[in-house]
Amino acid sequence: MKRFFKTILVLAFLFIGLDFAYQKAAPEIEKTFGTRNPLPYLTAKVQQFISPEKIQNDNNAKGHTFESNTATVYLDLSNPTLKQAAIDGINIWNNTGAFNFKMTNDKNNAKIIIKAMNDGQTNAAGLTDTQYNSLTGHLIKATVNLNSYYLLNPSYGYNHGRIVNTVEHELGHAIGLVHKDGISVMYPQGSFYTIQPSDVEDVKKLYQEQ
Ligand SMILES: [Zn+2]
Repeated sequence: MKRFFKTILVLAFLFIGLDFAYQKAAPEIEKTFGTRNPLPYLTAKVQQFISPEKIQNDNNAKGHTFESNTATVYLDLSNPTLKQAAIDGINIWNNTGAFNFKMTNDKNNAKIIIKAMNDGQTNAAGLTDTQYNSLTGHLIKATVNLNSYYLLNPSYGYNHGRIVNTVEHELGHAIGLVHKDGISVMYPQGSFYTIQPSDVEDVKKLYQEQ
């Protein structure tokens, strides 16, 4: 019992100590962040750091699919890191058997174009635009933009695997997938997951209903 009180006492001192440290640091914090409560600012910063992929034009592909589960892809990429990641992402999708991306050198007739952008104004590591035929509802074209601002900046921590995951995610949008919670390549933030069996099922469902 005595020991219990002793622990409480130690903990109490610990809290007082921490609180004191904060008080002492408060003017410093105010000087740095312009506020005594930098938590929202820091939270936003941390969030930006761990989840630059954000819902933007992501939902416009909802319900729209290509006429069949195959599409030509043109790589409009000069950066070797992005180019290799795009090739790897395409191969991983092709290996699932759910969709077949065919590389083409014909940019004008490609159904999907993968290119780079460099934009720190958006929170997205990747953005995919899609166009669809309003009569048939089918996708006509998709443009995948890989944001080198995040993907190639070491401070955002994108290794090859996560860049490939980003490619897989954006190609998922390009063929009609929408965001999904839980472990899925379509999880909207961070690009931590590769294609999961449930993602493969989702694509098969989208394309078998036609
Ligand atoms: Zn997305």
